[in-house]
Amino acid sequence: MSRIEIEAQKLLQQRRDSLWRPPVAAPLSPSPSWNDWESAPEPPSEERRRELEAIDAALRRIADGSYGTCLACGGPLGLQRIRAIPEAKYCLSCSGLHDLPG
Ligand SMILES: [Zn+2]
Repeated sequence: MSRIEIEAQKLLQQRRDSLWRPPVAAPLSPSPSWNDWESAPEPPSEERRRELEAIDAALRRIADGSYGTCLACGGPLGLQRIRAIPEAKYCLSCSGLHDLPG
């Protein structure tokens, strides 16, 4: 596993953790409960679900060794893009060309 993959994996896992566990301002109860969940201002949004899926997909690509290449053209994503968007699927030009997220 390359250095950038290790770095990306760490970032992705941190993002994943923070998405699964939304920050709680003042944890008054000793353990999380369904009450806490229900009193949350919003249910997990579609956007958050999509982000989790993108993060999981990127983690899988790291595991199978295909991480860092564009899924559309097969070219390298580039270090800067990986650092900015670790879960990116497409290189900058493809993402602009096809108007694809990430
Ligand atoms: Zn591309």
